[in-house]
Amino acid sequence: MSDTDKQSPFNDTIQSGLSRVKNIIAVASGKGGVGKSTLSVNLAVALKQTGATVGLMDADIYGPSQPGMLGSKDARPDISSGQLKPISKHGIDFISMGLLVSDDTPVIWRAPIAMKMIQQFIGAVTWGDLDYLLIDLPPGTGDVQLTLAQQASLTGAIIVTTPQQVALGVAHKGLRMFQQVNVPIVGIIENMSGFTCEHCGKSTAIFKEGGGKQMAESLSVPYLGAIPLDPAIMESAEEGIPIVTNGTETAAAKAFIGVAEKVKEYSEQIRQIILKHEPKKIQMSRDGNLQITWPDDHQSVFTPHNLRINCACASCIDENTGKKTLDVKQVPLDMKITGVNPVGRYGLAISFSDGHNTGIYILERMRELCECDICARNRKQDSFSI
Ligand code: ADP
Repeated sequence: MSDTDKQSPFNDTIQSGLSRVKNIIAVASGKGGVGKSTLSVNLAVALKQTGATVGLMDADIYGPSQPGMLGSKDARPDISSGQLKPISKHGIDFISMGLLVSDDTPVIWRAPIAMKMIQQFIGAVTWGDLDYLLIDLPPGTGDVQLTLAQQASLTGAIIVTTPQQVALGVAHKGLRMFQQVNVPIVGIIENMSGFTCEHCGKSTAIFKEGGGKQMAESLSVPYLGAIPLDPAIMESAEEGIPIVTNGTETAAAKAFIGVAEKVKEYSEQIRQIILKHEPKKIQMSRDGNLQITWPDDHQSVFTPHNLRINCACASCIDENTGKKTLDVKQVPLDMKITGVNPVGRYGLAISFSDGHNTGIYILERMRELCECDICARNRKQDSFSI
């Protein structure tokens, strides 16, 4: 990192392609087959119908199904400008790895290659002004999902589950993964919840009902609603016409619109919290300090040594006791910052000249470490008044 006064020390292509997107929301599930892709595409169209501008990225590199669900299997994105332009279909902009590889090419990348591909894929797409970009993640809780969670500046994540116990267990695991890396949970959707017979109108809970709601309540995260088990949802997906585009009269379409309204409400709440802490400017000063300008225009200064000794990673703090395990006396006073990178929209990963690079500094808490004269004086006064 140079010591110039540039706007941001970040050297991150991922952020640039996404800079005009207001809310980036990952749609995730602990396991495959729970309807994550079906829900992503219908939710995208439902959000569009509520007046939002919406993009959809099919990042399910191992089984990209969005081109089929949107009836665009043969479409090819424009790459003439050296960047990937999304394709417009049913009023949403979308891109899928499935548009770049032929249908019969099995995607068998190992995790490190898959991660690299996803990073490049995200960074290479030029999205326009969008209210929402939904990212349909590959199922599971491995490194690929983790990379995306940390690098795509997510507003939050939606967890899709079906009502069976086994699905709820893995959905819980997926949810914990996001919470561990501080990505807010927009909410939980229960899919395939109850089947209504088109002949007699009787509803049967084939896979049980209500598990998603219970899980949301027990974990204190929002519940976004239930989508019924409805053959018409599957048939419309196979025809490449998401059910929501066929009108909002059916129970399934109404359910999707209801979920979309909740997604809007909860993601806006999360966005407001993010905006409260998201720096206006991050830069390195010529003398090697990190400078952050906060939304209220307060300018914080952080010296490398102070940041290093306040690292809260698992090798510097005992996770059980919360006590510092780092021997502060061993930290050289002439410590330097060697790298600063954003982690989602909530933190900074900072590397130091002693090789330490596992610390993530949560923006919400960083202000407490501000070393400017005003903050230092206030802290001193607080400690006297105790
Ligand atoms: P995932 O992305 O989680 O692997 P998919 O979205 O591909 O799952 O869905 C798996 C299958 O289930 C597809 O055939 C899809 O059409 C069907 N499906 C998903 N949700 C529903 C639903 N609510 N009612 C009926 N079929 C559904």
